[in-house]
Amino acid sequence: MSSQPVAQATESEVTALLQDMKDLIGDEHVVTDEASLTLAAQDVYRSGHTPLALVSPSNTKETSAIVSAASRTKTAIFTRGGGMSYTDAHLPTQSHAIILDTSRLNRIRKINAHDLYVTVEAGCTWLQLEQELRKHSVRSIFWGPMSGKVSSVGGAVSQGAVTLGSSRNGSSISATIGLEVVLADGSVMVTGSAGQPEHSAFYREYGPDLTGVFCGDSGALGIKTAITLRLEPLPVKSTGLSYSFDDFPSLLEAVRLISRHKVSTEIFGAETRLVKMVAGTPDLMNDARQMLQMIKHSDKPLATLGKVLNIAKNGRSFLDNSKYLINFLTEGASKRELNANVARIREFAGNKGVETANTVAVMTQETPFPDPMVLGPAGKRLLPLHTIVPYSQANQLQQGFDALLAEHDELCKQHDIDICVVYATCGTAGFLWECVIYWPDEWPELHKKTMSAEILNLMNEADANPEAQQVVDQIKESIIDLMYQHGGTHYQIGRTYPYTRERNEASLSLLKSIKSRLDPDNLMNPGVLGL
Ligand SMILES: Cc1cc2nc3c(=O)[nH]c(=O)nc-3n(C[C@H](O)[C@H](O)[C@H](O)COP(=O)(O)OP(=O)(O)OC[C@H]3O[C@@H](n4cnc5c(N)ncnc54)[C@H](O)[C@@H]3O)c2cc1C
Repeated sequence: MSSQPVAQATESEVTALLQDMKDLIGDEHVVTDEASLTLAAQDVYRSGHTPLALVSPSNTKETSAIVSAASRTKTAIFTRGGGMSYTDAHLPTQSHAIILDTSRLNRIRKINAHDLYVTVEAGCTWLQLEQELRKHSVRSIFWGPMSGKVSSVGGAVSQGAVTLGSSRNGSSISATIGLEVVLADGSVMVTGSAGQPEHSAFYREYGPDLTGVFCGDSGALGIKTAITLRLEPLPVKSTGLSYSFDDFPSLLEAVRLISRHKVSTEIFGAETRLVKMVAGTPDLMNDARQMLQMIKHSDKPLATLGKVLNIAKNGRSFLDNSKYLINFLTEGASKRELNANVARIREFAGNKGVETANTVAVMTQETPFPDPMVLGPAGKRLLPLHTIVPYSQANQLQQGFDALLAEHDELCKQHDIDICVVYATCGTAGFLWECVIYWPDEWPELHKKTMSAEILNLMNEADANPEAQQVVDQIKESIIDLMYQHGGTHYQIGRTYPYTRERNEASLSLLKSIKSRLDPDNLMNPGVLGL
């Protein structure tokens, strides 16, 4: 990770700053012990500098006061939601810094099921939000990434996260209709229709889209304290279909057609060999623990029990000898609508694909927010690298990747590195291509804290493996370059993806002036997005 210039501060200045912050929000919410700081300065891939403190305000007023105190003393602020990203996005690049933890900003301020919006504080998890909205028979039109048991609404909107609802409705940013943001000078900005006193937060498209400027900023422009999301009624009926394909172009064509007709709400798949690797470990989707989670999560336990029994009956029969497996989740406001969607999916996927047991599809619908798996099969470390490309580029990207893999084959074997590819969609036109690199290494504290002891006990921790990590870094750069060559875009940009590379000069210059107008001392997550 590249370092930013370290601001100078004397010991007594630091002591005064920390005391100031404790006076503002309470001693227990300004944590300075080494273990907590080290943990907070990690993401799923690696670690940043140890900051001065981990600071957890509980409301907008406290957040604003903390930001003002940090700004006065030129202290950098790295905002952390659930810490579930892997692009160095919230990792301190200097020690004269605080990590601002949003976990206490977790209230759901207003649910308006009539006007279809919810205003939620940024640190609320997607699981917490979904459970509350369910009571009102609504959900956000994007309703979370798969890490949503731990990851926050603020983190997702700052990164443009995708998955639940994304095939039909796009990313977290499409669902966002307004923001409350604390700026570097401590002022509080409100975007969307709620920016005027008598107006509710129901609408985004009112004048220039200032909401959009802060979405996907990786926290470079300010700290989101609250987010308003568009709601939709919960579906009445849902199901999932799973297909196997022998070749990538056929899979791609089926996904393209199903996406553009909006008959599937979520589409995701993987190389069969990855599913087999996962199925060989204790996190297997059809183990008893997972089934109990499904029944516990369900608001219709009897119906879920039927699905569980079906899964148990099908066992691992979906793991055939094909090369790719893909799942299409679908829903309807009535049985008739659902059946029509299922028929269209079968029409498009059945041409070249073979329908298999829908184990993974059903499990995902029943348990959309499982415990986040931050370790791979057999306890290897993991690094996902993704890109969103137009359908017209996806075949070449896959071919380029196959060539790159062949080039690195010996090196990977030497270091016991596996690389597999997973697929998903975002909206009608975005094909999400993601490869996941696995390598044997020791487990960071974050991983031990995130995974259950039960699962960790069944995995093997390797010794520290800096050589393999170096090879992973090298392969990572080649893959990111390949994505760039194929016109790929990214969410979760952080400090990993080349957002500023060859970017149109006028637009980059405008973005830089927005940044320096809002944050003249470059204290808000300095260096992220390449700013
Ligand atoms: C097992 C697993 C599954 C995952 N599944 C998905 C998936 O399905 N889809 C997907 O898109 N991603 C997925 N991810 C990646 C990641 O979890 C998501 O991108 C998630 O949205 C990150 O949210 P977070 O709260 O953990 O953010 P963090 O990692 O804490 O932060 C991410 C970025 O947002 C900024 N930020 C956080 N909160 C705020 C705020 N309030 N104001 C301003 N900036 C802020 C941070 O500074 C940082 O730049 C997955 C990760 C794991 C480990």
